[in-house]
Amino acid sequence: MTTQAAFDETVDVLVVGSGAGAMVAGLYAALSGAQVLLVEKSPYYGGTSATSGGGLWIPCNHLMADVGIDDNAGDAARYMLALTGEDVARENVESYIANGARMLRWLTDHSHVRFQAMQYYADYYQHLDGAKPGGRSIDPLPYNAQVLGKDFHDMQEPHRQVRVMGLMGYSNTEGAILLSKSPGWFKLILRLAAQYFLDLPWRLYSRRSRRLTMGNALIGRLRRSLLDWKVPIWLSSPAGTLISDAGGKVVGATVQRGGRTLRVGARFGVILASGGFEFSQELRERHLPSPTHRSWSAANPYNTGDMLRAAQKVGAATALTDEAWWGPTIHVAGEDRARMLFTERSMPGAIVVNKAGQRFFNESVAYTTAVQAMYQPGNLPAFLIFDARYRREYPFGPLLPGGMHLDWLQPAGIRRNLLKKADTLSGLAALLGIDGGGVLAAVERFNGFARSGKDLDYQRGENPYDLLYGDRRVSPNPCLAPLTEPPYYGIEIYPGDIGTKGGLLTNAHGQVLDTQGRPIAGLYATGNCSASVTGRYYPGAGATLGPAMTFGFLAAEHACSNGRRPS
Ligand code: FAD
Repeated sequence: MTTQAAFDETVDVLVVGSGAGAMVAGLYAALSGAQVLLVEKSPYYGGTSATSGGGLWIPCNHLMADVGIDDNAGDAARYMLALTGEDVARENVESYIANGARMLRWLTDHSHVRFQAMQYYADYYQHLDGAKPGGRSIDPLPYNAQVLGKDFHDMQEPHRQVRVMGLMGYSNTEGAILLSKSPGWFKLILRLAAQYFLDLPWRLYSRRSRRLTMGNALIGRLRRSLLDWKVPIWLSSPAGTLISDAGGKVVGATVQRGGRTLRVGARFGVILASGGFEFSQELRERHLPSPTHRSWSAANPYNTGDMLRAAQKVGAATALTDEAWWGPTIHVAGEDRARMLFTERSMPGAIVVNKAGQRFFNESVAYTTAVQAMYQPGNLPAFLIFDARYRREYPFGPLLPGGMHLDWLQPAGIRRNLLKKADTLSGLAALLGIDGGGVLAAVERFNGFARSGKDLDYQRGENPYDLLYGDRRVSPNPCLAPLTEPPYYGIEIYPGDIGTKGGLLTNAHGQVLDTQGRPIAGLYATGNCSASVTGRYYPGAGATLGPAMTFGFLAAEHACSNGRRPS
């Protein structure tokens, strides 16, 4: 309990975190005349958002018209409500559908943030009424880091998995061309390489690309917009406890800065956008299904659920804490976070098996569905298996296709962990500790499906989403090719994530609710520190950032209009 006079620093809106949701909240508040401060725990701003694909899933967005896809609130609601069921308040879903497109329009009109619609990026549950074959997922346009000046150095670098050879970035749209080797792919790679290597004199003293793409483009564009409005971000400044007044209204938070604990007051409200608890082993074990490990997460290692705990101490309710934005991951020695297998499972010539050597799902499904299948009894540990043709043709984790990135040239750590291989399937099974007879039977059956083009067990490659990560040069089914060419490769894959998705229970404005369902005055949450508006599912590419930005926008709107109202 406190009075305003007791603060070291006072602003109108205090935002905790600096991912995309935090930045949109800060930008909206600044543009509506509020004094804003963002505080960030890590020495870099941007969080997982900066390391992401930067895609947003926004139903009814204005860019869909550019690619000739119609959408309407009714279709979007039927699709989302079929996924969210009883897990999410209907008014939150409706708020998202009504305000996502409004947030995007507002950003386009008031900031440097720009996107293009991804025509072929299909919603993830194509069998549901209201699903679209593309267009709801949008891709940030690349951006030139030069306009950020010295602030570029403080931005979280992209995840290694979204850079060619750990160096050159590409947009989602460019990535699709490269992966499928669509016409023009070779020219594109030459252009990306030329842009990278000819960026002189910069190239002489930094390996980092100044052509920002994906999450770095989104965060770069947002940061530039915040700089225009002189909004500060305090780096290496974790928020700790929330400060309430005598009536229970949240009026500020403690922030560690330069070795001191500061009390920062917030006249209009505190907006929590501090990510999930993916890097707290303790919270993972308390909430997520077992087994679980923080090293299986591809998210930002600073996200340890600090503000989830702080908000619970002031009475906040939580929901969906047993959920994550799941995705099968691998770990590459020496890297601080896991790599998510977005495409590798789906390309033709690979299958996933359990310890009995049996396939157990359609390997081309979206990542959250993949891990939901992995957690079914008997399916862990799980292994990805592929043959020499696959290795030659497609990128895998940090490895470029075999022709460009020969096995024997790889560092010993990669050869030992990532390139376990044998001349026979039985030999590979022995190496991985899985049932040899099971694998032989599974591959023989799968090879028959690949030849006929029909996966009679799991219908892989039979809907537009599956085909996104298929090879259209392979027929009759772009997601199926027989595993026939030795050596055979195999690797254990983990039930990992790109963030947890359960947390503080919020309403349609992003206000945090208490355990009686009443808003806690002055307290808002968005992104992965809040319970997701998408419930236990992942409607489409960008369904984590789209809501994080929309509810950040709504929280700032509510805080600013409420904060100015005479009390
Ligand atoms: P973050 O972006 O992680 O931001 C939280 C910030 O809060 C961090 O900077 C953290 O350091 C800071 N913080 C934590 N604790 C404190 C504290 N106590 N005080 C102050 N600051 C604190 N999602 C999509 O929608 N589209 C995509 O294309 C996409 N691609 C992805 C690709 C990859 C490789 C990965 C790893 C993820 C991807 N995601 C994508 C997931 C998405 O990036 C995350 O779900 C999203 O960024 C989470 O946003 P957030 O604001 O909740 O957290």
